Amino acid sequence: MPRRPFVAGNWKMFMTVAESRHMVSELVPGLQAYVSVERVICPPFTALMAVKDLLEGTDIGLGAQNMHWEISGAFTGEVSPLMIAEMCSYIILGHSERRMYFGEDDQSVNRKVKAALAHGLIPIICVGETLEERDAGRTHAVVEKQVKAAFEGLQGHLGSEHASLVVVAYEPVWAIGTGRPSTVEGAAEVILKVIRPTLTKIFGKEFAEAVRVLYGGSINAQNAVEFFSHEQIDGGLVGGASLKPAEFQLIVQAASNSISSSK
Ligand code: PEP
Repeated sequence: MPRRPFVAGNWKMFMTVAESRHMVSELVPGLQAYVSVERVICPPFTALMAVKDLLEGTDIGLGAQNMHWEISGAFTGEVSPLMIAEMCSYIILGHSERRMYFGEDDQSVNRKVKAALAHGLIPIICVGETLEERDAGRTHAVVEKQVKAAFEGLQGHLGSEHASLVVVAYEPVWAIGTGRPSTVEGAAEVILKVIRPTLTKIFGKEFAEAVRVLYGGSINAQNAVEFFSHEQIDGGLVGGASLKPAEFQLIVQAASNSISSSK
């Protein structure tokens, strides 16, 4: 079964509610045609409700950028899976900016993955090595550890029929927001040699072959064509370029075209 391409826009901490409304009105008309691609927009928490209303009647999905794993409690400033699931179908988890600045670790990512699945949210699980780890030749070990940890305790709970309900994003930290993307071959190698084999060990080959694995890190309209035409790369998690409507449309178009390429 071919994997359905997937493109998500991570708006990070940009866009007020008013700006979000404007951004969605610019984005949506350009994205509508690409029905073969699973398209997702991830605005900040404060804009979720407004964006949800504007996406009504489209097949463009809504995601949040983080959440707590508990369903409620005395956790000032946090947002629970129950609250996210009222509005969203997707949740970005373990983004390197959360790991770097907010103490996110493999264990909390694992708790959040379990909470997401328990609430019917599709987790977009981010993994990737830092520059230091890459330079020390530790990329494969780091990514393997992150993938294993994210799915810890889920062995036996996810079969190939659940593969479309989980997304992994390989995002080398040094490529995020730097304008210095990975090479296509470099990203594909990590997916082929580390991410899918690790998923195979945990959930079996059928699941690992069916799950979408994205690339993220300085994707733009030009390099998206190359990244997405690689048979290992099923789409992208896009930061900066997701806030440029014309560019984001071209990125989604590249994902759509990748289906008919030699892939
Ligand atoms: C991201 O935020 O996940 C990301 C990949 O950002 P950028 O596309 O700006 O590198």
